[in-house]
Amino acid sequence: MLKTIAAFDRIGEENAFAVLARATELAAQGRDIINLGIGQPDFRTPDHIVEAAVKALRDGHHGYTPAVGIRPLREAVAADLYRRFKVSVSPDEVMIMPGGKPTMFMSILMFGRPGVDILYPDPGFPIYRSMIEFTGARPVPVPIREENGFGFSAEETLRLITPQTRLLILNSPANPTGGVTPQSEVEKLVAGLERWPDVAVLSDEIYDHMVYDGETHVCLLSYPSIRDRTILLNGWSKTYAMTGWRLGYAVWPGKLYEYARKLAVNLHSCVNAAAQYAGLAALTGPQDEVHRMVAEFDRRRRVVVEGLNALPGVTCATPKGAFYAFPNIKRTGWKAKALASALLEEAGVAVIGGPDFGVLGEGYIRLSYANSTENIRRALARMGEFLTTRKAA
Ligand code: PLP
Repeated sequence: MLKTIAAFDRIGEENAFAVLARATELAAQGRDIINLGIGQPDFRTPDHIVEAAVKALRDGHHGYTPAVGIRPLREAVAADLYRRFKVSVSPDEVMIMPGGKPTMFMSILMFGRPGVDILYPDPGFPIYRSMIEFTGARPVPVPIREENGFGFSAEETLRLITPQTRLLILNSPANPTGGVTPQSEVEKLVAGLERWPDVAVLSDEIYDHMVYDGETHVCLLSYPSIRDRTILLNGWSKTYAMTGWRLGYAVWPGKLYEYARKLAVNLHSCVNAAAQYAGLAALTGPQDEVHRMVAEFDRRRRVVVEGLNALPGVTCATPKGAFYAFPNIKRTGWKAKALASALLEEAGVAVIGGPDFGVLGEGYIRLSYANSTENIRRALARMGEFLTTRKAA
């Protein structure tokens, strides 16, 4: 037998990819499947961004770049953060990453080890817990509750911090709930963190453009008292419909930048050069398409919420951000994962069971409304028919 490292048996997964594989398999068998499972925009990457990548390759940008990314792109990220949030960031704190995920991977590696606590949102993006367990640190779930609009509670979060806590992971707007934590709650948390100078914060703001109903996104880098221990995770995947390009960025404070740079050199050398030029065009070019996509998500959000609330046994709070709805299905009598599976197999609608995002996800399912309004309406009709005719398993 090969003697491998036990930690690898502790790595988890993202079940959204398994659901996508099953949905694709069923579709290949000729079934009509509506996919509200995977969290990626259904729009094409805007043309001017694609053209910038093509041009970069034609212009000979096909070699390695600096491990931290090309300077103009790092400058563009800094300018974008200033323009949107009045946050001053030096391009030398910005690192271009191969997507959003690698920033959580590296941050959790930097702090996680046995004896250490890492706080993460539950329900939340499944990779947080997976990576915490990989490092041997203790995963401490921060409950994300429907009654708080699926934002985190500062008080509850602060109560979970102990002298063993090294990293606190925050995500707003949030996956899987669409929750946006109000600024007042963020500020309470930041004030409370002053008592815990050894706790670093990883703020996953990948959905920062997608906020609705007049909400404003609060960038964690805005707070000087925690600025020197806040890591920002962001990227192009969701905002510019670029999930497959694998392009993201991190802002690393202090010596973490050097750690991350060395990890990048050891791991991926640099991000795909043409993708970096595409990212530059995305940030410096017209933003109309972003506004158009967000407005369209907003329209669909209303359709989804209204449709879900009309289903028997289902209630859905209006999500304020991202492109997910997280309806409460407790009164249907179904367990969430059984319902998700039956909806896919029997009704041809792919959704994700809440427990795939943490134990507190039981009683909920996640629908991504990154699909056409027509498909959303068809999916809701199928769910309605299913819930009226099929008894809970
Ligand atoms: N963070 C959150 C909260 C996400 O939902 C996702 C993707 O679904 C990511 C990070 C990862 O983004 P990327 O595809 O750029 O790695």
